[in-house]
Amino acid sequence: MALIVQKYGGTSVGSAERIQAVAQRVIKTVKAGNSLVVVVSAMGKTTDGLVKLAHEISAAPSRREMDMLLSTGEQVSIALMSMSLQELGQPAISMTGAQVGIVTEAEHTRARILSIETERLERHLREGQVVVVAGFQGISSLADLEITTLGRGGSDTSAVALAAALKADACEIYTDVPGILTTDPRLVPDAQLMSEITSDEMLELASLGAKVLHPRAVEIARNYGVLLVVRSSWSEDPGTKVLSPSPQPRPLQGLEITHSVDAVEFDTDQAKVAMLRVPDRPGVAARLFGEIARQDLDVDLIIQSIHEGNTNDIAFTVRKHSLNRAESVATAIAPALRNDADPTSGEAEVMVERQMAKVSLAGAGMIGRPGVAAQMFSTLSAAGINIQLISTSEVKISCTVAVEDCDRAVEALCQAFDVSSSPAHLKSEVQATPALNLPPVRGAALDLKQAQLAIRHVPDRPGMAAKIFSLLADHNISVDMIIQSQRCRLIDGVATRDIAFTVAQIDAGEAQTLLQRAATEWGHGAVTVDQAIAKVSIVGTGMVGRPGVAARMFEALAQEQINIQMIATSEIKISCVVPETEGVRALQAIHRAFDLAGTERITVPA
Ligand code: ASP
Ligand code: MG
Repeated sequence: MALIVQKYGGTSVGSAERIQAVAQRVIKTVKAGNSLVVVVSAMGKTTDGLVKLAHEISAAPSRREMDMLLSTGEQVSIALMSMSLQELGQPAISMTGAQVGIVTEAEHTRARILSIETERLERHLREGQVVVVAGFQGISSLADLEITTLGRGGSDTSAVALAAALKADACEIYTDVPGILTTDPRLVPDAQLMSEITSDEMLELASLGAKVLHPRAVEIARNYGVLLVVRSSWSEDPGTKVLSPSPQPRPLQGLEITHSVDAVEFDTDQAKVAMLRVPDRPGVAARLFGEIARQDLDVDLIIQSIHEGNTNDIAFTVRKHSLNRAESVATAIAPALRNDADPTSGEAEVMVERQMAKVSLAGAGMIGRPGVAAQMFSTLSAAGINIQLISTSEVKISCTVAVEDCDRAVEALCQAFDVSSSPAHLKSEVQATPALNLPPVRGAALDLKQAQLAIRHVPDRPGMAAKIFSLLADHNISVDMIIQSQRCRLIDGVATRDIAFTVAQIDAGEAQTLLQRAATEWGHGAVTVDQAIAKVSIVGTGMVGRPGVAARMFEALAQEQINIQMIATSEIKISCVVPETEGVRALQAIHRAFDLAGTERITVPA
């Protein structure tokens, strides 16, 4: 007999009829011989309605009272669901977060789960009851019973946390879409349902998948090895499995990581090749990485900063033993990468660094928490360590530093973020799970809501990146991609580099004003904003150790004559900034290039 946690979202329980349909489904699962915990969200748009009501009363309602208010939505659903089950002859009992004993931090409106009491739940299950639990809510402690909520969309997190605490065999998330799709079907009509995805991939696709699955739920599933399934409550289709490798045993106390960072990773087997002053036109990255791929060389980080004049710099890292071959490829094609627009500029210049270290922060806790990058840069600067390359993705920030600084960097970061260190974990995971037979790319995403900022001529000394990103974090501005240029320019005898990054469009103006104001004191140049950008990304654990994936993405963009403005990567993600007007075409091109398209038309609600 299996123990299953099923979670039904707002639309799945949006009306009395829907609740009855869900009850039928629950009973079918029980009849098949399973024990069931059912987690429900508030009916339909109830939570939105309650938020609106609160704002009619107060412009800034207290967070405690917001929790008191919002937690009522789920309480309605559990009672109705339980009644509906009983009406059909199925013994059932509803329970609030407090009644179960879902203990969270005392952070109203955004609490993280610390622990879950399982005794009472288990007793009801043994008695043959279906236990219907209110999602999204908990209490601050078993003693003072303050009601907390987990943040919008938090019922997914409740469900997976319950599954982890109860050591359930599976956690099924029922929603109004058929599962997780390769990309947004409104933009790419032939997007396909994925039958499976790894939790690491899901986390990197957070911006694409967050509407379907709360990233915190994915992180719990990964940490505790919960088998997670996302499927439609309207059909019997199997949906998408979110797979996690068998985790290290972890205590159930402090269940949700209260840290924003999960681990510090490092890799000292890296060497860098940089090509300076390659022309800023479509096809250049495709040409370079196409040649690298033909030599069967696996690249790790790829970074292209914003252009200067009409040229770019592109840097990438490879394993140390591949450096010589990578360098030869770069040198061989440099003459072909002349800048035709400016015959005086000469050919691209190749620079190599024989050995460097990459240190990274990893963890889903950084999503939506500004300040993690800033704290990383401050920590490195306080240790007197200069950062060479910076590359960021949704759940990872990587910096390359001198090899001799690596140990100190790791130690300082572990201390600052109160976590332990591990060598790059993905490689070992991929090697350990060859049976998964991973496709190189699992899905593609487009983000049209970002703007690109560039700060010119930032003095190249430790601490500058820390200052810049602390200033933004202090104003609650979340930064997405961050890229530091290769090119070093002397301005009044001071070595400088450009730093570019992307932020949400609504924050761009404020970020520009803040940084412009600091220019005189910090000694940097102009701060420019480009609102008209789009970010396209591909994600796949299978790209680790597989040459040619980046090349194929760049080639797909080149064929469409789309110019790449910035590139940043993590082990399992490659993101490019392109002009906004090309965003959808770019997404369609890369979706096609990786054979993600299918013949089945997937319809999703608007
Ligand atoms: N009802 C809450 C919300 O709308 C929690 C959830 O549905 O997951 O955000
Ligand atoms: Mg949801």
